[in-house]
Amino acid sequence: AILFLGFVLQINSVSAQKRAVDRIDLKVDSVLKLMTLDEKIGQLNQYTGDRDATGPITNSPNKLKEVRDGKLGSMLNVRGAKETRAVQEVAMQSRLKIPLLFGLDVVHGYRVTFPIPLAEAASWDLAEMENAARVAGRETAASGIHWTFAPMVDIGRDPRWGRVMEGAGEDTYLGSKIAYARVKGFQGKGLGNLDAVMACVKHFAAYGAAIAGRDYAAVDMSENALWEYYLPPFKAGLDAGAATFMNSFNTLNGVPATGNNYLQRDILKGKWGFDGFMVSDWGSIGEMVAHGFSKDKKQAAEQAIKAGSDMDMESRSYLPYLAQLVKENKVDIALIDDAVKRILRKKFELGLFDDPYRFSDVTRQEKEINSAANKQASLRMAEKSIVLLKNNKQTLPLTKSLKKIAVIGPLAKSEKDMQGFWSVSWQNDKLISLYEGLQNKVGKQTELLYAKGCEITDTSKTGFAEAIAIAKQADVVVMAVGEAYDMSGEAKSKANIHLPGIQEDLIRAIKATGKSVVVLIMAGRPLVFNYTADNADAILYTWWLGSEAGNAMANVLYGDYNPAGKLPMTFPRDEGQIPIYYNHLSTGRPAKNDQDTRYRSAYLDMQNSPKFAFGHGLSYTTFDYADLKLSTKELSQQAKINISFTLKNTGKFDGEEVVQLYLQDKFASITRPVKELKDFQKVMLKQGESKTINFVIDKEKLSFYNQKLEWAAEPGDFKLMIGTASDQIKLESEFVLKDE
Ligand code: BGC
Repeated sequence: AILFLGFVLQINSVSAQKRAVDRIDLKVDSVLKLMTLDEKIGQLNQYTGDRDATGPITNSPNKLKEVRDGKLGSMLNVRGAKETRAVQEVAMQSRLKIPLLFGLDVVHGYRVTFPIPLAEAASWDLAEMENAARVAGRETAASGIHWTFAPMVDIGRDPRWGRVMEGAGEDTYLGSKIAYARVKGFQGKGLGNLDAVMACVKHFAAYGAAIAGRDYAAVDMSENALWEYYLPPFKAGLDAGAATFMNSFNTLNGVPATGNNYLQRDILKGKWGFDGFMVSDWGSIGEMVAHGFSKDKKQAAEQAIKAGSDMDMESRSYLPYLAQLVKENKVDIALIDDAVKRILRKKFELGLFDDPYRFSDVTRQEKEINSAANKQASLRMAEKSIVLLKNNKQTLPLTKSLKKIAVIGPLAKSEKDMQGFWSVSWQNDKLISLYEGLQNKVGKQTELLYAKGCEITDTSKTGFAEAIAIAKQADVVVMAVGEAYDMSGEAKSKANIHLPGIQEDLIRAIKATGKSVVVLIMAGRPLVFNYTADNADAILYTWWLGSEAGNAMANVLYGDYNPAGKLPMTFPRDEGQIPIYYNHLSTGRPAKNDQDTRYRSAYLDMQNSPKFAFGHGLSYTTFDYADLKLSTKELSQQAKINISFTLKNTGKFDGEEVVQLYLQDKFASITRPVKELKDFQKVMLKQGESKTINFVIDKEKLSFYNQKLEWAAEPGDFKLMIGTASDQIKLESEFVLKDE
């Protein structure tokens, strides 16, 4: 009876949802019927309301006139509850009083800045990342903003591309899990709740594969690579309920993503059934002219609307040309209606037709943003984002008994750079530098000495002497080097990703004092730092950690938090190895090792292996992997293999380990990568504690896109690898998928 009741309730809630959907459809239709063609096209137009020389948007009579005239569906970059309310009041003077959507790039926090997305990805902690997006969503929604242009889910296999800082790294499986978590985080319990913002999964698609890592460059890729590696994180974002998508600047196999029917209509809105709306990237409709795809903006407008781009961000192609195109019978009004309906639907779901000001509430804004709880969440996320790359002879953690610490480097006292690119810059009042974090941490018995040593991009070594002098007086040296906040991000491609300037020379000079040297590297992408990697006593890769950066770093340096981060991207030895990623395909001539070059797939002048592999990251404690068991080594098509092994904390600290499960399909109708991440778990173990870890393998985990682009598993031999990094496999076995 209970089961039956459950069943009935389920049916009821499904039909209640359906009724709500139907009701919104009716409302959308009733608004649509009232709209003139110009008003419809107005809904498809979006432009920036950012401050300019005249001050806030409320000082721009021309833009406001367009709002009043119903020529705008959405505005981005408007600041805070007061400004959004003021602009919405103007929208309420338009004939149909259709509320505006306010959008903003809330990429890693709003007022409280979180670590950059790539850093968060290094935590492999999905719940924490979801929470980080939740906090950002709450602060954003309380400031009158309805929509964040995040998460960016582009797979990034090329660290020359500056936007890797904004994504989840190189791996499709990890990236898909993170895409899902972030969308859930931003949208919370769903649109309509006062603390939810619409997510925007971007950039559709394959933007991360820009040739030579040059931002906005063309993308040329096989259908298999597209489906296998680049599309799954988008699908995951959609499965999490993402309200919107953004297309991208790049061409894909010759066709701009923005004018790409196949991507937007066939895949996203067709095969995947996406019912939200697609916004173009900034100016990307107009840029189809520069691509050589459209002869002018008018043709660009025609191609973009036909291809499924619903909203024109900043290119002003739709507003002047769509009405003409309809009148000339070049664009079917049904296409315009469909785009308008998609946008109106979100406005209804957000509750804006009931109360256009419901998010623009100054009192709530004051209460929600920058709270102690939000800062605490940022601190936790920051600690979890740090990766311990190296720790010789247990240099770390530091002990409280140290008398003098020399803190050296251009980033040691920097606050601004902790913020990272893509932060909501006008919102941040206070960020904690490494130096300040250490001050907060050390007791009276420890003295901090400080010297900058050099600037990030210096060529002069005049500051070295002072740094060497304080190093000589100290018990240990802590160095803060890396990139300035604007060296990785959009349009921040680099051909040279070595640690900038003379920072490695500074490290060499300090190392020559004979002191123990701990290096913290703060950056937005994987950098090359071979001298440091080989000679520093300990290295923490801290990325850009946000508001609580210094406190998080101090907690990790002193072992109050035992680092557990793992690299979400491969770190090369040299730019010449790029693109370099762990899940590469096999070759007919694999090199046996880094010295094996004779007619091998190898470089004569460089090893094949990376400096630090995907998944690498140490802990202050050690873990032992043992007793691998498979419930069967012959998997039939509908069955599962239960996998178990014992993980033991064998060191002197409590700590977390990210156990990583990789698979290889040993031969298939399309050659498969040497290994692929297919599962992972983050496990907390007390000192001396053991746990049995379980994984399940089924056919789904063995599937891939075959020559016909069907997602299927092929019978045959598989290799199972479990380890602490992609290059540190601890347990191995093989099994067979049977033919049935
Ligand atoms: C970026 C997008 C961003 C948009 C709005 C573009 O330049 O590519 O990711 O959302 O600007 O700021």
